[in-house]
Amino acid sequence: MRLALMATLLAGFAAPASAQIEDDGARMERVADGVYAIIHANATDEWPHGNTGVIVGSDGVLVVDACYLPSRARADIALIRRVTHRPVRYLVYTHWHFDHNNGASEYVAAWPGVQIVSERETGDWIPLNATYWSRYSTRPDSPRRAALAALEREVTTGADSAGNPLTAEQRRMKATAVAQRKAELAELATLKPMTPTMRFDGALTLDVGRQVVLRDRARANSPHDVTIWLPADSILFTGDIVVQSPLPFVGASSPVPWIRVLEDLEHEPARAVVPGHGPVMHDMSYVRQVRALLEAATAAARQAALDGHPLDWLQDSVRLDEVRRATPAWRDPSLDEDWRDTIRALMERAWRGCAGRVERGRAGERASGRAGGPGMHAHPSSRAERGTLPGNVSNHSEQGPSLRSG
Ligand SMILES: [Zn+2]
Ligand SMILES: [Zn+2]
Repeated sequence: MRLALMATLLAGFAAPASAQIEDDGARMERVADGVYAIIHANATDEWPHGNTGVIVGSDGVLVVDACYLPSRARADIALIRRVTHRPVRYLVYTHWHFDHNNGASEYVAAWPGVQIVSERETGDWIPLNATYWSRYSTRPDSPRRAALAALEREVTTGADSAGNPLTAEQRRMKATAVAQRKAELAELATLKPMTPTMRFDGALTLDVGRQVVLRDRARANSPHDVTIWLPADSILFTGDIVVQSPLPFVGASSPVPWIRVLEDLEHEPARAVVPGHGPVMHDMSYVRQVRALLEAATAAARQAALDGHPLDWLQDSVRLDEVRRATPAWRDPSLDEDWRDTIRALMERAWRGCAGRVERGRAGERASGRAGGPGMHAHPSSRAERGTLPGNVSNHSEQGPSLRSG
């Protein structure tokens, strides 16, 4: 269903033919002269690709993020070459989450002189994307391999795990998912994460014959989220500070400081906003809605802490439906379950912000990873396999740093 939504999304933002280039897994949308956003279909039924930004200057190209799988990054490079023959001089990471940088090795292969740029601490987290995350997925006894085997059995037998027959459509979709996940695991098995060659603190201005301003916004979706601003064009790339997929990714987030970050973004005089996932935006209405969601969540968590309620109570009783109703992108009834999961994850993160810690009760075990790590978001379309993904399985958190979903 999520893939169907994504297909609708891809079709629904059709611009004039001259304004975009497509292949079968992405569309490259022209945001301004020489500025593009590559919006990808999901890599699998479980994981998305982050958006990729392409900024073409007279002296070369700056690329924002390198998506989840190297095969997709290779296809993106082919798209980039359709709009410019200039070399990619800089690849900037908005944050450390692997759906934004696993593909970096393809940029290095295509342009060996490319500088990979990140905020300083983000650079330290990049090796985790291979040493922990990929190994976790690809080892022979991994939960992800077990889930894939189960899915493959369903396709072969034509019945789900309870023995109920699959419809032809269900069987076809599951077969597609099996093929995608096999290809994904094969790529992860040989993944080469690219650590940055250039790190910065605070802010950095790069020049490709066009000024590009990088700014660390610190804690929001990850420990350090960097925005990319084009002053001459008033275009803002936000990384996962802003995600419309169609819901935000909240599971590894820090809601309290994130609110202030969104407020700051709302004051940028941007005429286009390219989010970390989802369509290019032309006003701040969605950004304001994400802030409203976080404000409602932190207020509810604060009140629950004051009233002496535990986290379980908070997660079971708070729904934030009024914020959902106010946001067109979130209203679709097909998102009901994702919304519930998102709010549960968000309440846990908001709770940390108020109470400082999460008790290790029933809900705490279900919802939390180890505190203090960098965190990772799992793709919310994974609910069919919930409990099989590393990002969703808190009882695996002892094996790695703060594996978080949402
Ligand atoms: Zn992401
Ligand atoms: Zn992220």
